[in-house]
Amino acid sequence: MTERKKSILHRFWRTFKHIIYPRVCLACKQRIPESLTDDILCVECRKKIRKNIPPFCSSCGRHLVIVHSGKKICAECLKKHLHFDRAFSPCRYDGPIKELIHEFKYKNKEYLGEPLSRLMIDFIKHYAVPIRQIDCIIPMPLHPVKLREREFNQAGILGDYIAREFNKSIDHRVLLKQKWTKTQTELSHAERMHNVKNSFRVSHDGVIKGKTILLIDDVLTTGATASEAAFTLKKYGASAVFILAIAS
Ligand SMILES: [Zn+2]
Ligand SMILES: [Zn+2]
Repeated sequence: MTERKKSILHRFWRTFKHIIYPRVCLACKQRIPESLTDDILCVECRKKIRKNIPPFCSSCGRHLVIVHSGKKICAECLKKHLHFDRAFSPCRYDGPIKELIHEFKYKNKEYLGEPLSRLMIDFIKHYAVPIRQIDCIIPMPLHPVKLREREFNQAGILGDYIAREFNKSIDHRVLLKQKWTKTQTELSHAERMHNVKNSFRVSHDGVIKGKTILLIDDVLTTGATASEAAFTLKKYGASAVFILAIAS
């Protein structure tokens, strides 16, 4: 499909999605007034979104509450070794954002990719995300079985918007998920690290050798999955790997 056709379809979708979907707040499910038809959240839920603001932890990118004598790293990150160079995320993973990400991932609301990626794009523009250094954007891959179940890779959709905005190349095929990993929510960081070990592979190293990569994911929790993906990319020659998620 040509870029022009894509953009026409995209505009069509933006215009008609509100006719297809009832105008309710996607977080609290209350009706949104007609005057705010372009919103996916009600005014109250919008206020409840917690943004990550500076100072940031120089590893996980979360807001740093206490800065220990010049060391800009949070207590959690001090305890572990992560293979990515630095993570960034515009929001905290709770409240309405958690709800929106859940709707996006599991309820087939593909159109949420646009407003959610907007949060990431605005964050890149406002804070020191090294977007100029980035040679290639890579979305966090899904295992093929999960991809078949879900029909789309949410990280791929976010990545497409970001790549388009900053005129960057994006590669959906170079990083692959080869191992089925069980849900990590109940696991500790050490257990997660073990769980994700060897779960990725690289299909061809030409794209990543000597390159600075921006790896896109929806959520960053302990960073175990992102760290393992970064480890794999570096094993195949990537010179730096940055992570950008919607929330952490
Ligand atoms: Zn609401
Ligand atoms: Zn941290």
